[in-house]
Amino acid sequence: MKIYVLGSKLVSEYILETIVEGLRNVFPKANFRVEAKTLEIPSQAFNQDRQQFLSTTILAEAHRYAEKYGLTVALGVVDVDLYVPQLNFVFGEAECPGKAAVISTFRLRPEFYNRPPNETVLIERCIKEAVHEIGHALGLRHCDNPFCVMHFSNSIYDTDVKQKFFCTKCYLTIEKILKEKE
Ligand SMILES: [Zn+2]
Ligand SMILES: [Zn+2]
Repeated sequence: MKIYVLGSKLVSEYILETIVEGLRNVFPKANFRVEAKTLEIPSQAFNQDRQQFLSTTILAEAHRYAEKYGLTVALGVVDVDLYVPQLNFVFGEAECPGKAAVISTFRLRPEFYNRPPNETVLIERCIKEAVHEIGHALGLRHCDNPFCVMHFSNSIYDTDVKQKFFCTKCYLTIEKILKEKE
């Protein structure tokens, strides 16, 4: 299972590497690779009225990359505010199932909530959202368990409550999916 983590221009290689360290704990058998400053944010993703970026357009970029390099999943990590039409914002989006996922650091930073910057908190949140979106790409749906990583985050509080790992039910589902992909 090949998973590439693609950063957009302003996302540091350090953040990407630290996210991958967290992902390795959840997906120990996967082959990860970090590609910093690789993911283009298409200019047409920007919505002037909302001052936000349509995540689906960025997801399509990640998908093209996954196709080109024969990846199981391409996870894009961007730093801009993402939305989909039905929601005020999203922390990330993924094809479900599919090969592409994207998350943004924008609303995961404590500064966004008028708190002092804290890289440990930021990375912890990034890992949870990264596992969540990769889980979707591998075929998992949302889970009712508020501590499960597949729980839907309506707000940053949900992200902070949930853990980096799958609950037993989701774990068994993902094990089955991963066995089929081996
Ligand atoms: Zn989700
Ligand atoms: Zn679950």
